[in-house]
Amino acid sequence: MTTAARTEYEVVIGLETHVQLKTESKMFCPCSSAYFDTDPNTHACPVCMGMPGMLPVINRKAVEYTILAGLAMGCTIPEYSKFDRKNYPYPDLMKGYQISQFDQPLCLGGGLEIEADGETRYVHLERIHLEEDTARSLHRNDGIGEGYTLLDVNRAGVPLMEIVTTPDMRSAAQAVAYMRKLRQVIRSIGVGDADMEKGGFRCDANVSLRPWGSETLGAKVEVKNMNSFRSVQRAIETEIVRQTAILNAGGTIVQETRGFVDATGETQSQRSKEGAHDYRYFPEPDLPPLKISTAEVDALRARLPELPDARSARFESQYGLTTATAKLLNETHEEADAFEATTRLTAEGATGDAVLARARAAANWIIGDLARLRRAEVGAERAWDEIPVTPAHIAELVKITEDGTITGTTAKQVLDVAFETGQMPSAIVAERGLAQVKDSAEIDRVAAAVIEANPKPVADYQGGKATAIQFLVGQVMRELKGRADATGAAEALRKQLDA
Ligand code: ADP
Ligand code: MG
Ligand code: ZN
Repeated sequence: MTTAARTEYEVVIGLETHVQLKTESKMFCPCSSAYFDTDPNTHACPVCMGMPGMLPVINRKAVEYTILAGLAMGCTIPEYSKFDRKNYPYPDLMKGYQISQFDQPLCLGGGLEIEADGETRYVHLERIHLEEDTARSLHRNDGIGEGYTLLDVNRAGVPLMEIVTTPDMRSAAQAVAYMRKLRQVIRSIGVGDADMEKGGFRCDANVSLRPWGSETLGAKVEVKNMNSFRSVQRAIETEIVRQTAILNAGGTIVQETRGFVDATGETQSQRSKEGAHDYRYFPEPDLPPLKISTAEVDALRARLPELPDARSARFESQYGLTTATAKLLNETHEEADAFEATTRLTAEGATGDAVLARARAAANWIIGDLARLRRAEVGAERAWDEIPVTPAHIAELVKITEDGTITGTTAKQVLDVAFETGQMPSAIVAERGLAQVKDSAEIDRVAAAVIEANPKPVADYQGGKATAIQFLVGQVMRELKGRADATGAAEALRKQLDA
């Protein structure tokens, strides 16, 4: 068990996470919500450009997705909810205000269970509300001019769900664990891609310190601009160090917003933090309040898929997997789906323990060698739908390894080839002559040649150093290119050496 190093002050963290919802159209107009990799300002209309007099219309799917997310995280769904105007003057805010939710959000309470610092804890949510994204400002410095800004309206009005935690976390590791769990849940219920690099999952970290044992909260600093889990971790750690130094020098922490600078790992003051009154919230006059009946909530609840934690627990009991393996398989629902698709295939023609043994073998391929291949390029993991290996490939690999057609060593090579070419394992074995050598005459011949060529280890073995045979076994297997297993090779060698 690891525990976080005790900091000088108690660290208190609350996170606000913005998640873009995967709807076809924008929050309040029929424009396409796809903005990544699109030509700038092509998904724009008078509503999302903020023209006066235009009337917004609520995207029903976005409301449903937000409620689904809330239900997945144990929130209560109040009967009444409404939208409000949040007024602030930023160039990327087309209307000069954002339609958001102030005092009657769609979801209240709830939370997520996380594991970090060697313990399990429940991070409580305050609320989840629905709002619209802003336009994108693209700062340029090029031949056309110095330090000018372009605006892309395609992102303006994309549905955005904001998930706000209570100040429940106590370390950077817990904050990252929470973010990971949140992303996992969002993805598994299919309401968002939650892709941090593409801006679909953005987190603001509120960090404060207080003397150990104190009940009152210290002044908080809100850190923005983190676009990876790693930068969330670094930003919080940096902030803890910075605030500790100020407090130790007898200073006070000013409540403010700071931006994380990836290049230096530092946080920089952006503005002193505004309070809610600065936004002059008032109910959005152009939209009706929402009334959400229990029947509608129940219908949405019925649509929830099995959630990652529950599925992981089921994998343990149903397939006899270890907790660690079950959790790894459930990091993404694509992986969990692929595993179960594989087990459906491997279960064919097997009964009882054999079913479980094959499921375990499939799991090991998926989280082991296949995961290694998918992550071969640093920083990028190839998704299941981008690789040529399918559950059918893994199922076949499991079966032909189990029935001795190929050795475990060969199986790894076969997977490598399948990952490159997409060929089925049995075709690879046939084409490349990789079937296990069961003909003992061939192994005997190779063993004799290896003994001949390696007098030193042979003498060591015969002189009583039993472990010296390992080297010879390795040589036999190498000669046979892994087509014999270690047991067969050792038997053939002993037969000749002990004679
Ligand atoms: P604001 O009005 O500045 O947005 P909120 O009270 O709405 O502040 O809280 C925003 C986020 O900051 C929440 O996630 C909350 O848990 C967190 N938070 C509030 N106070 C503190 C604090 N003293 N230290 C750390 N986080 C805090
Ligand atoms: Mg806030
Ligand atoms: Zn529009």
